[in-house]
Amino acid sequence: MYQDFQKHLQATLQQIKDDGLYKNERVIITPQSSAIQVKGENGPVDVINFCANNYLGLADNKELIEAAKKRMDERGYGMASVRFICGTQDTHKMLEKAISDFFGTEDTILYAACFDANGGLFEPLFTAEDAIISDALNHASIIDGVRLCKAVRYRYANGDMEDLEKQLQAAQAQRFRIIATDGVFSMDGNVCPLDAMVMVDESHSAGVVGKTCHGVTEQYNLRGKIEVLTGTLGKAFGGSVGGFTTGKKEIIDLLRQRSRPYLFSNSIPPMVAAAALKTFELLTRDNKLQDTLHDNTNYFVEKMTAAGFDIKPTQSAICAVMLYDARLSQEFAAALQEEGIYVTGFYYPVVPQGQARIRVQLSAAHTREQLDKGIAAFVKVGKRLGVLK
Ligand SMILES: *Cc1c(COP(=O)(O)O)cnc(C)c1O
Repeated sequence: MYQDFQKHLQATLQQIKDDGLYKNERVIITPQSSAIQVKGENGPVDVINFCANNYLGLADNKELIEAAKKRMDERGYGMASVRFICGTQDTHKMLEKAISDFFGTEDTILYAACFDANGGLFEPLFTAEDAIISDALNHASIIDGVRLCKAVRYRYANGDMEDLEKQLQAAQAQRFRIIATDGVFSMDGNVCPLDAMVMVDESHSAGVVGKTCHGVTEQYNLRGKIEVLTGTLGKAFGGSVGGFTTGKKEIIDLLRQRSRPYLFSNSIPPMVAAAALKTFELLTRDNKLQDTLHDNTNYFVEKMTAAGFDIKPTQSAICAVMLYDARLSQEFAAALQEEGIYVTGFYYPVVPQGQARIRVQLSAAHTREQLDKGIAAFVKVGKRLGVLK
C-alpha cells in the first residue's frame, strides 16, 4: 500500500520543487539574537539576523534566563498535567494575572501556543446561529479556528472598512456577530482599523505597537474595550512557547470549561511561565526596549525607502521589501546571506500569488551598525539583481 502512496508523495514534493516553492530550513547554532551563527557547508557562518520574531530582543535576555533557571530548580522540568485534571501551579496563575494587567482585561487563559488559543476560541463560544466576520489576510490559526466553529462565515478584503460594513450588513440576521482580525498583518506589517466589537490576534502587535508596546488597544486608545484578544509568548514576549486569550471574564470562563486545546493539552513548563512573568515586569519597569525598537524600525524604513526600495507601509516592526517574483525573492535572500544578512524570502502560499517579498523584522537588539550593514547589503544586492537602478 505505501508504495503507491510514496509515489504520490514524491510527485507532490517534486511539483513543489519545480514551482520553486520548496522550503529548506536553515540551522542556527547559537542563541537567538541579532547576531547569530548558522551552519554552512564549510563550518559556522556569522550573520546579522533580520528574520526572527525577537522584537524586543528578549530571547537571550539574562534576567529571563535567570528567572527560568531558578523556577526550574524550584519546581522541576515539566507539568505532565492538564489543568482541570491535575491542577496548575501558582506561576501559571500569576502569569495569567500579569497578562490581564498588561492588557487591562478582566481575565486570561493560557494555552500551549497562540495557534491553540485561536484554534480553541470560536467553537466553544458560537453556534450556527452566529456569524464570524473575518479579514481575508488573517493568520492560518484564526482561519482554522473559524473552520472548526459552526457559525456562518463572512470574509472581508484586508483592512477594507467598506467591505467590512457590507459583510456586517449581510450578517445582520445572525444572533451574535464577531469580527476577527490580526492586530498586525504579519506579511505586510499594516495595523488593522478597529471600530466595532472584535477579536484581535495580538501576536505581532503586543510588545511592538503603541508607545509603550501594549499593542493595538494602546495604539487606538481602546485599552480594556475589546472583547477578546489572543497572543503569543513566542514573539516579542521572550520568544519561548505559549499562547493566551485575554478579555471579558465570562468568555475566559467558558473557554476554561469548553476550549478543546486547553482541556486536552499540557500546561506550559513552569520555567517558561516564570520567564514570561519576568518579561511583563521588564516591560513595565521602563520604556527603553520599546523606544529602541521604534527608533530602529523608523531608521531602517526611512533608509530603505530613500535607497529606492518598494516598501509596504508599516506601523509595526515588520518591513516588507516588495519584489513580487517568487524566484527573485529566493535569489535575493540567498545573495543577502552571502553578504552576512539573514532574511527570508516569502512567496505563495504564505503571501498571495505575485506578491513575493523579503520580510525584514526589526528588533530592539539591533545596533545602528548592524542596521547600516543590513541596508548596505540590500542596496548592493538590489543593484546587482536589477531591483534598484
Ligand atoms: C505567530 C502567530 C501565531 C502563532 O503563535 P504561536 O504561539 O507560535 O503558535 C498566531 N497568530 C498570529 C497572527 C501569529 O503571527
